[in-house]
Amino acid sequence: MRAMTVEPGQAGSAAVDEVPDPGDLDGTLLVRGQLVGVCGTDREIAEGVYGTPPDGERRLVLGHEGLGEVVSAPPGSGFSAGDPVVGIVRRPDPVPCPACAAGDWDMCRNGMYTERGIVGRDGYGSELWRLEPDYAIGVPATLGDLGVLLEPTSVLAKAWEQVDRISERAFFVPGRALVTGAGPIGLMAALLGVQRGYEVHVADHTTGGPKQDLVEALGAHYHSGDAADVDIEADVVVECTGAGSVVHAAGRKLTSGGIMCLTGIMTSSPTLDVDATEMNRAMVLQNAVVFGSVNAGRRHWHQAARSLAAADPAWLGGLITRSVPLADWTTALYREPDDIKVVVNLQA
Ligand code: BGC
Repeated sequence: MRAMTVEPGQAGSAAVDEVPDPGDLDGTLLVRGQLVGVCGTDREIAEGVYGTPPDGERRLVLGHEGLGEVVSAPPGSGFSAGDPVVGIVRRPDPVPCPACAAGDWDMCRNGMYTERGIVGRDGYGSELWRLEPDYAIGVPATLGDLGVLLEPTSVLAKAWEQVDRISERAFFVPGRALVTGAGPIGLMAALLGVQRGYEVHVADHTTGGPKQDLVEALGAHYHSGDAADVDIEADVVVECTGAGSVVHAAGRKLTSGGIMCLTGIMTSSPTLDVDATEMNRAMVLQNAVVFGSVNAGRRHWHQAARSLAAADPAWLGGLITRSVPLADWTTALYREPDDIKVVVNLQA
């Protein structure tokens, strides 16, 4: 079968490869891959700066935002042929650390976790894949192809759940939220903020175009330009760019008692001269919380499925701006103007 592969550590090694069909793995679902979303993490792996192949392999099957259809399922698995499914990305570390032992693999303590399509395990970017029923999430049938958005949504479901939990430490009312970056992650952060009743503001450098339209269609406010120029105080900031200068500017928008969630990662950015003493003073005097959030646990995938099912399908469809056939999947790695989410059609 054909698969999207890359040799981690080797820039420019992304290719379409023939790989063996998945073998008979007792107790697992056999899934026909339909769509795979491509994100910044995939681009970093293709650039040779992130990712690890499975033990003993040179190449990694890419793809962690996979949507597929069950071909066969073991009896009692809760799944049957024809069911739309997505696969959870992370698997607990084998030790396991206390967090993984408790089922919170997204909070893994020892870093020995694996991730499909990213760290030590082949991903979902192939015509067929195997999936353990415990790591399969049924996709609401009404979502159809929009189920490919479940993985990025799960990451934001976790981020917002953590904000909600932190907000319970003392008096807090969900008021205004600032989201930095209007890519797929930023737009999902905005959707989930609106669903929670926040007045949402999104800052992004793009002027006009689909990003602005999508933000405004949510009833949220779009600010074209630097986060530093957004003239608001925010109870919550969800930072989705990973760029130090944006993180710093957005942090300054936090109101007293505010909560800031960092979701973006960037391998390198121009040196930013931040005075840690000044930052400390501001955070202490304002009871601020700044925290990082990565990946998602099982409950976040279910929360994400509920959020997507409650969203306007036309709005969600607007996020998927380009679909490329598996044979040309490497073109998904290059950004085109107006790209938001690019998906690979594994059956084309
Ligand atoms: C994925 C997460 C993963 C993270 C770090 C992100 O792109 O959505 O599931 O934990 O990369 O590998």
